[in-house]
Amino acid sequence: PTTVTVPATGLVLLVGVSGSGKSTFAREHFHPTEVVSSDACRAMVSGDEGDQDATADAFDLLEHWVGIRLRRGLLTVVDATNVQQRARASLVALAKRHHVLVDALVLDVGESTAAARNEARPERDFGAHVVRRQQRDLDRSRRGLRKEGFRRVHVLGPAELAAGVTIVRER
Ligand code: ATP
Ligand code: MG
Repeated sequence: PTTVTVPATGLVLLVGVSGSGKSTFAREHFHPTEVVSSDACRAMVSGDEGDQDATADAFDLLEHWVGIRLRRGLLTVVDATNVQQRARASLVALAKRHHVLVDALVLDVGESTAAARNEARPERDFGAHVVRRQQRDLDRSRRGLRKEGFRRVHVLGPAELAAGVTIVRER
């Protein structure tokens, strides 16, 4: 299995299109309280985790929540697509303000797999064009990702994900 080393008291950004398996991966590898998801934040500010109109308020809450955890020295995993540079930049800045390390963990299963999985999800009723746009954002991000301030950028493709992943927390 692939070993992924994350900062024990820092921040981990999951990065991947809708359907790439971020929430599933987070559930499998981290404690529920370590995971801060944009869906949970959307639900808390609007009553509906699919409410796109609540996005700005949801990310306000997400950053506040993450900031408190980092100040308290708690490992925090952000479960959001994070495919846009702007979204990652504000979280990298948040980690810097709290003097903690931040890693990116890219789940890269490919657009067709992600879109096919979403087809089977009643709670994701958007079309394949949404995943296509996210994949384009991710592909654009790839080259510069290592220069955005991450300590490590882990990229897990279908083969690594199928073979299994071990998370190591590094103090
Ligand atoms: P979103 O950004 O929309 O929240 P996500 O990246 O969190 O998507 P998940 O909800 O984890 O994606 O997974 C999407 C679907 O794919 C779910 O139905 C899940 O059961 C399935 N899935 C996740 N990981 C795998 C896997 N490794 N193999 C097969 N199916 C998977
Ligand atoms: Mg999810």
